[in-house]
Amino acid sequence: MPPKAAAKPRRPRRAQKPGVTIPDAIRLLTQEYGPFANEPRLDPAHELTFTILSQHTSDRNSERAFRSLMQRFGDLYAVAAADVDDIEAAIAGGGLAKVKAPRIKTVLNRILELNANSLDLRFLAEMPMHDARAWLRQLPGIGPKSAGIILSFSLGMPAMAVDTHIFRVSQRLGIIGPKVNAEKAHEVLEAAMPPEDVYPFHAAFITHGRQVCKAQRPLCGACVVNYGCPSRDEKAMNAAADSDRPDGQAPGRRRRGGDRAATPTPVPHTQVVKELQP
Ligand code: SF4
Repeated sequence: MPPKAAAKPRRPRRAQKPGVTIPDAIRLLTQEYGPFANEPRLDPAHELTFTILSQHTSDRNSERAFRSLMQRFGDLYAVAAADVDDIEAAIAGGGLAKVKAPRIKTVLNRILELNANSLDLRFLAEMPMHDARAWLRQLPGIGPKSAGIILSFSLGMPAMAVDTHIFRVSQRLGIIGPKVNAEKAHEVLEAAMPPEDVYPFHAAFITHGRQVCKAQRPLCGACVVNYGCPSRDEKAMNAAADSDRPDGQAPGRRRRGGDRAATPTPVPHTQVVKELQP
């Protein structure tokens, strides 16, 4: 029998960077950007309309289009009955009006068909969340994100709404794997935390994605969860460390405390909601 080859000495494994747990990420990001205002937003049918208007455009443009739509037609029943061309003209300031106008009209009319000629969707709050989501998903063009927005922000349910920022930050932090797509991410993230953490997670991650963990050139040196992020950019870390800004803060970092400590960060389109209040 030939002698066994000597076993190769094992190379010591490189130490794993410690991960960031979801509770730690929520806590640290909320300390950094919060507290977050969790104010009631629009009723479900208005929220749904707003959600369509906000697709692929800025908050400012979608607010402008939504305001113009409501000023032109007064209520959503009138929008449902209007000509597509008139809806398109009303929302022209928001971008992609040619696509969004027929989408809005179709969705509103489908709700009327399914809901005994009513646009009042508050009954969804009485249903188990899974069933309420399925009800919304049967509407044309309503995916998991739009359904999550309506369930969460209109109806106060612990539904996850994964937008591009939340998806990116979650992947970079390793909270969701690289093979999890945006649709699947809703299920994975919802299952990964207790219901009471869903809204704080949403608010913290979306704000972090907008302000620091940007799609292009994330500001890793200014990131409060960089200690455990497997995607952190070491160059950005070094640049931040080399920074000799007189205020001692890394480039891009928001100022803590002081002027903003007591002011809750508003959720998008709070202003529009206020305008719609009687
Ligand atoms: S370290 Fe960089 S990539 Fe990781 S979460 Fe922070 S900003 Fe994003």
